[in-house]
Amino acid sequence: MNFSLIVESYEKLEATSGRIEMTELLASLVRQTPKGELTMLVYLTQGKLRPDYEGVELGVAEKLALRALATASGLSPEKVRKAYIVEGDIGSAAQKLLERSRQESLFSQRLTLKLVYDTLLKIAKTSGEGSIETKLRELVKLLNDATALEAKYILRTAMGVLRLGVADYTILDASALALLGGKSQRHALERAYNITSDLGYVVELAAREGLKGVEKVQVQLGKPIRPMLAERLESAEAILDKMGSEVAMEYKLDGERLQVHKRGDNVELFSRRLEKITHNYPDVVQYVREYVKATDAILEGEVVAVNTDTGEYLPFQELMHRRRKHGVDEAMKQYPVAVNFFELLFIKGDDYTNKPYSFRRKVLESVIGVTKVTRPVPAKRTRSVEEIEEYLEQAISEGCEGLVVKDPNALYRAGAREFSWIKLKREYRSELTDTIDLVIIGAFHGRGRRAGVYGTYLLAAYDNKRNIFPSVTKVGTGFTDQDLEKFPKILKEFETHVKPPNIESGLVPDIWYRPHMVIETIASEITLSPIHPAAMGSIRKGSGLALRFPKFTGKIRTDKSPEDVTTVSELVKMYKMQLKKVEAK
Ligand code: ATP
Repeated sequence: MNFSLIVESYEKLEATSGRIEMTELLASLVRQTPKGELTMLVYLTQGKLRPDYEGVELGVAEKLALRALATASGLSPEKVRKAYIVEGDIGSAAQKLLERSRQESLFSQRLTLKLVYDTLLKIAKTSGEGSIETKLRELVKLLNDATALEAKYILRTAMGVLRLGVADYTILDASALALLGGKSQRHALERAYNITSDLGYVVELAAREGLKGVEKVQVQLGKPIRPMLAERLESAEAILDKMGSEVAMEYKLDGERLQVHKRGDNVELFSRRLEKITHNYPDVVQYVREYVKATDAILEGEVVAVNTDTGEYLPFQELMHRRRKHGVDEAMKQYPVAVNFFELLFIKGDDYTNKPYSFRRKVLESVIGVTKVTRPVPAKRTRSVEEIEEYLEQAISEGCEGLVVKDPNALYRAGAREFSWIKLKREYRSELTDTIDLVIIGAFHGRGRRAGVYGTYLLAAYDNKRNIFPSVTKVGTGFTDQDLEKFPKILKEFETHVKPPNIESGLVPDIWYRPHMVIETIASEITLSPIHPAAMGSIRKGSGLALRFPKFTGKIRTDKSPEDVTTVSELVKMYKMQLKKVEAK
């Protein structure tokens, strides 16, 4: 398939904001794509090269993209840089510069989807000595064969700033329409996606085997399942009102979520964002081999750092030492961990996601050995507000964040944040009860003691309907001196001197960052704001939502991808919940 066909559709998609029109455009593109190339089309349209769990990063920094463009256009680096700043986007700069320097009709070799995809994948996978030069060479080769319009999308994709406004569920809708006869078949496709986390695979399957094939998809060992998430409510009373009579309460531990895939002695661990993190926890792998009484199983649990003398649980930050690139063995000795299992999703060939919680929990209890380092997470059934409150206090006194209250009849809804799991934390009178995870999109130079370093960061939430990161706040408190030194180093490769196209903000920081690093914040309240565009107009015309008195909690959420941060619709819900609380006082 010619790449030009794809970029023509991308142009149209970019110019459209209506969902129905977008879905139809995309459906038509899906129809035109040969079956064997659909996976590539889907990944590229998602702005990726492989499903997230394979951990393939696009890996072209701003500097490299600019060098490639200078070489391919034959213009000086200064000229290219200037065009980039003026245009405010690498893609538009490339299009402008190349349109001037080349005649489209001169092209003999047309770029194909396969060639573009394979080259980008090669660039992403190149590492080690000399890799920058190899990446540059490959990118220039592509640009040399590209039309100006193709170059626009190649560079945006390579830099990870493709902004088509196409969210995963628009791809699901479009594929259902193009391949399964209608949008109403989308739920089957969505379920298959949620349990395999691989949209490319699912769309190609739909093309090859139709609805029957998609419906047959089962949970598979080795393919991570998108995690079920919890809603929030402000009180035990509200939870019982929402869930009905009997509920199951579980401790909410403050650690890292693990999805464990066990096939005999072969154990793989996936993080909350579905990256393979087996290498961080060799001890957990061993515990699973020894204490999980099942040959084949998929489980979920929370891993927590423990003090082995007292058995006490330690804060989340302790676990982050496990993220070291080197010296995991040393970290393993210094920061021992325990695992509390809370889910069983697959066992002995059976998919358990379609069985109710109470059944899953019963079997979970029968397969997890209770040892110093493994156990099913403490849980208890109740019908009473008082008992929930007591259990919450007990959990907190044992070092937990709070409770997750679960509906005993609920199935495991992969990828969904619904009211069949509700988290409950202790109320603080002056602060929002829950923390808010946000992605860093910019930084401002500090003053006074902080002169010379970035002292304040600009943070964004995620608008999953539009696939955009709108700013919600600036944060300058809660950082230690070490944090302020460390952050710019982590963020270095994501710096850009123009606002990335998938970001929105009424503020202009001293430096922009492509969405990558996620941090946890706590704030006193959510307020209306004319400057921050998150949830613009959803509460009041002309106003977005912002955080008041935000503070960094000290947690860098390496376990979350930018798309996993608090969404604008969650902020709207939290804003409304907060109003209710004020009214109740
Ligand atoms: P948070 O910052 O509160 O962890 P989150 O977005 O990561 O938010 P939530 O859906 O809000 O996820 O809360 C569920 C998370 O709580 C899970 O991802 C898991 O890591 C953790 N957790 C701890 N104990 C449990 C439990 N018993 N059941 C389910 N999740 C638990």
